[in-house]
Amino acid sequence: MSFPFAERTRRLGTETAFAVGAEAARLAATGVKVYPFHLGDLNIPTPEHIVEAAIRAIREGKTGYCPTPGITPLREAMAEEISRTRGLKLDADNVSIQTGGKPVIGKFIMTLMNPGDEVLYPNPGFPIYESMINFHEGVPRPYGFKETRTGFALDFEAIERQISPRTKLLIYNNYHNPTSAESDLEEMKRLADICVKNDLFVLSDEAYFDILFDGTPKSITQFPGLPERTVILYTFSKKFAMTGWRLGAAIGPRGVIETISRFNVNDESCTNNFVQWAGVAALKGPLDDHRKMIDILRERRDTAISILNDTQGIHVATPNSTFYLFPNVTKAMEKLGMKEVEDFRKYVLDKTGVSFTTRNHFGTPLPGETQKYVRLAYSGINTSEIIEGLGKMKELLTVLS
Ligand code: PLP
Repeated sequence: MSFPFAERTRRLGTETAFAVGAEAARLAATGVKVYPFHLGDLNIPTPEHIVEAAIRAIREGKTGYCPTPGITPLREAMAEEISRTRGLKLDADNVSIQTGGKPVIGKFIMTLMNPGDEVLYPNPGFPIYESMINFHEGVPRPYGFKETRTGFALDFEAIERQISPRTKLLIYNNYHNPTSAESDLEEMKRLADICVKNDLFVLSDEAYFDILFDGTPKSITQFPGLPERTVILYTFSKKFAMTGWRLGAAIGPRGVIETISRFNVNDESCTNNFVQWAGVAALKGPLDDHRKMIDILRERRDTAISILNDTQGIHVATPNSTFYLFPNVTKAMEKLGMKEVEDFRKYVLDKTGVSFTTRNHFGTPLPGETQKYVRLAYSGINTSEIIEGLGKMKELLTVLS
């Protein structure tokens, strides 16, 4: 007997990148050495004082239900942190604690988008944006990026061309997964002006706000007119190496946050009580481990970049944020006579064990896209393995040229 699946389930997308992880695991099980560049996860442990705070909270009995929008000490600490780092004036009522950053995407969309409303979102981009827009019967309007000498820039032409009276929301992921694109102030202001002028409400996905190698991170909420129309997606996952703890927050205007918390009560009731106490320790505690993590990531980034740029047919600019590289592999593919980036991915995996995702795991390529890209995450692989794995890939592509 087959289940009578609801029609809406057909509109629900997924993260196809997980399939690459499963494929790499299958290969590793056969004894092949795999170099995991596909994971957006960290192989760096959560700082000890955060672990201790969680254990203490369990021992103290913080194991029951807690308030739906989050425990007050965490909401207050979160409001303080976001006010300080984004130049805003927030209090606990501007914060709804979530089980990670990811749930903010669907709850933001459910709160603000009606069926038929159009939503601008980055493609390539985090695949859950498109999945949630489609699932809730919005109209996805993807915008891309332009490769520059120093990285990637927003394609304003694509953004402005697609704005119509039906466009209601814009999703913006500065410090971008997968391209690592980082807006300078001019680019960010231009986008902010477009949002104000067209009365767009904004989801600012700031998952990688604190994974920055140089300078001070910036948020679109610093521009006039934006705080009142923006929800920030915050996560503890990356900054504090807490991906599996599932702790994040939606931060924005009170009314929107209240409604988002109403989804919490209907869905998970509350985010895990003792994990929230660990979150308080994370926000209030020392940042030494975070800084060490950034140093480790910087070394991995520089190592990978130098090997990639020394590899035939591949080039990549040095990004200042996230833990992803998005090299252009068009020439390498041409040499191999390949048209599909998926063929390139499988070929490299098969010949070298180097496992990565491609542009196509981050949305359907847009019309007119000619360049081919892959995404390498260096968050889950040590420097020595980076040298070994990318060294093998370099050799493979050199022999062929
Ligand atoms: N947004 C972006 C751009 C991401 O890359 C991720 C995770 O990889 C998330 C949001 C969600 O992260 P989490 O749910 O672990 O907070």
